[in-house]
Amino acid sequence: MISAVLPTYNRAPLAFVSGKGSWLTSEDGSRYLDLGAGIAVNALGHAHPTLVETLTAQAQKLWHVSNIYRIPEQEQLAEMLVDLTFADTVFFTNSGTEAAELAIKMARKHHHDAGHPERTQIIAFEGAFHGRSTGAIAAAGSEKMVKGYGPLMPGFTQLKWGDHDAIRVAITDQTCAVIIEPIQGEGGIRVVPDQCLKGLRDLCDSTGTLLIFDEVQCGMGRTGKLFAHEWAGVTPDIMMVAKGIGGGFPLGAVLATEAAASGMVAGTHGSTYGGNPLGCAIGAAVTGIVSEPAFLDAVSQKAAQFRQGLEGLVASHPKVFAAVRGQGLILGLKCVVPNTDVVKAGYDRHILTVAAADNVLRLLPALNIPEADIAEALSRLDATATGLEAAL
Ligand SMILES: *Cc1c(COP(=O)(O)O)cnc(C)c1O
Repeated sequence: MISAVLPTYNRAPLAFVSGKGSWLTSEDGSRYLDLGAGIAVNALGHAHPTLVETLTAQAQKLWHVSNIYRIPEQEQLAEMLVDLTFADTVFFTNSGTEAAELAIKMARKHHHDAGHPERTQIIAFEGAFHGRSTGAIAAAGSEKMVKGYGPLMPGFTQLKWGDHDAIRVAITDQTCAVIIEPIQGEGGIRVVPDQCLKGLRDLCDSTGTLLIFDEVQCGMGRTGKLFAHEWAGVTPDIMMVAKGIGGGFPLGAVLATEAAASGMVAGTHGSTYGGNPLGCAIGAAVTGIVSEPAFLDAVSQKAAQFRQGLEGLVASHPKVFAAVRGQGLILGLKCVVPNTDVVKAGYDRHILTVAAADNVLRLLPALNIPEADIAEALSRLDATATGLEAAL
């Protein structure tokens, strides 16, 4: 008999009742060190006092009004993001998938209104993840995500990873946009080298193609800059944001330049919940904290400590771990044993990690994880690996 909850997840037999910082407490009262942070969502850990206070205060005032009215909390967060980034304008969503939908629509509308309705083709990359809508799965194109869901939305091609010449050939006069994660999350914490992002920017500039960065997982301070692409010194035309921006409250956004957004006039897009006062008040609190230079520097310091420890684990457990990947606090351990075995063995040591493609173990701690918790995480991962070795 089918479960009351649609069984689309292979769930671990764990249920949590409360959280504080980087720790979760399960139903039986035991504490788990959380290195998944809701898959890069709980950017400030669980129950951050400022976020609890912001949510509580806003909940007393106003939760929801329609976007047919001005929403001051939404305007405030949009202005913050415009001031902090390449963007001139922002649309708020409730998820990364919805951000992907708008990014695709915005890019096509841009060319349509510029007199090039034939420019509809969007180039994406093998191993990408942009969400679960029919458009987002067509963009990513992996068999696992699209099988059985056809006919897929047309207009997408996926290129092999890291083949600049293939991109050059693939961009034609039908091409609308290129969509890429500066660091692939689900795909296995694969960092796009800076020179590739630069090359991509040049190719897009010379062909009038829009460049869309999907920073849903790697953005919002995770790499030690507010957005990962800042390391490469290039900017996109359109960017998708979600996960960390709400710190656990469902919130996403599409950021764009004025030129890229030129087709999005009144009546062309909308959302009932997107940009509601509650979500935007929380988003502004998260953004205010995460964008502080001192906070971002601390992320880089924590990342250096964590990475050094992980390199040590690879050296001391070569039969379990093969390499460290990633940047800042979006880190991956390429595994020798099945990554899902490591995740499961970690549960026994009360440490929570997340599997990714390419047999990678994902480590996405809260950005404010204390040094002592990083040390504890390394020691639990060490014990986990030792346990796995004994069973080999
Ligand atoms: C999680 C994710 C999405 C989808 O976000 P949802 O909020 O789950 O819809 C899109 N792109 C990337 C890179 C993601 O990591």
